[in-house]
Amino acid sequence: MKKDIWVLMEPGQADGYRESSLALLHPCRALADTLGGTLTAVALFGGDVAKGAAIAGAYGADRLLLADREALDPAAALASLAEKEHPWAILAVSACETREYLPRACARMGTGFAADCSGFALDAKADCLVWTRPAFGGSVLCDVVCPVRRPQIGTVRSGIYQQRSIPRALPAAVSRFTPAQGDSPRVRVFRLLRNLAEDGIDLENADIIVAGGKGVGGTQGFRPLRELAAALGGAVGASRSAVDRGWISGSHQIGQTGHTVAPKLYIACGISGAIQHLTGMLGSGTIVAVNVDPNAAIFQYSDYSVVGDLFEVLPALTREILRH
Ligand SMILES: Cc1cc2nc3c(=O)[nH]c(=O)nc-3n(C[C@H](O)[C@H](O)[C@H](O)COP(=O)(O)OP(=O)(O)OC[C@H]3O[C@@H](n4cnc5c(N)ncnc54)[C@H](O)[C@@H]3O)c2cc1C
Repeated sequence: MKKDIWVLMEPGQADGYRESSLALLHPCRALADTLGGTLTAVALFGGDVAKGAAIAGAYGADRLLLADREALDPAAALASLAEKEHPWAILAVSACETREYLPRACARMGTGFAADCSGFALDAKADCLVWTRPAFGGSVLCDVVCPVRRPQIGTVRSGIYQQRSIPRALPAAVSRFTPAQGDSPRVRVFRLLRNLAEDGIDLENADIIVAGGKGVGGTQGFRPLRELAAALGGAVGASRSAVDRGWISGSHQIGQTGHTVAPKLYIACGISGAIQHLTGMLGSGTIVAVNVDPNAAIFQYSDYSVVGDLFEVLPALTREILRH
């Protein structure tokens, strides 16, 4: 049996693919080579043929499986494709969208799902993938295997693998398909709304994030964060405490039940550092924390720790940045 690997391309900005989806192609290229199978990038949401083929090829895919229109029920579309082609494994990035449709796709295919993994490796003897998954708020790492059913399906957190293009790569071969629709008599999907933050910035691809927690004190309290983010060309994130209080929309939430992010710079303002928040941002390059409490847990993880009131620290920082 041929052991083909599929990587799902989530939509990114400007009609492209999400950077973390492209980054996942690199370890999967090595896996496909070891297994003697092909590596296919799967774009359930459609997109430009030439652009898609060039970018999928540049990041190591042999083939691009491209929907001829956006799959309104990605779970049904993926299950129907997999039924026809029998891939050995399907990988995707952990994102709000994949968290929603992949468990449903797995249920349709009667296979298991390893969600939010921090890595994966081939167990050649057992002939399956071993997924590594943080559990209990990240305090233990467990191995997850799907020994019998195929395809094996899992999501990997963004920021674990870096994007690596292949010099002088050829465009991927393109196969088009018409996405299957769901067959539920009770549910009809008319339109998919992308999970972009209110300011239109894709948090999971942002290089700089200024995130606020309960310490911002209210909706207006996010203003100095937005000003700093604008000065730095970054995005605004939030803890669940801020989201639950209705100070900012859920699309900004970072953590276990929000986005997993890995920006180059993460500035945590008025965030205490609960494990459920840390889970979503510890992959960041440099972490700066601003908190009035010198004993806040976030300071154990920050590269730069500012003990102070965010309403004094942030405007001063923004002024300084704009002056240069
Ligand atoms: C199943 C589950 C899932 C969860 N998922 C998530 C998730 O995805 N994301 C998430 O964030 N949380 C999540 N949580 C909630 C999490 O446990 C914490 O409750 C939450 O992260 C705390 O948010 P916070 O740090 O903003 O608030 P707090 O813990 O209340 O901290 C506020 C901080 O602000 C500081 N502060 C106050 N005023 C100022 C000021 N003027 N200047 C500077 N600092 C100031 C305080 O010293 C304090 O450290 C989850 C919880 C559960 C049980």
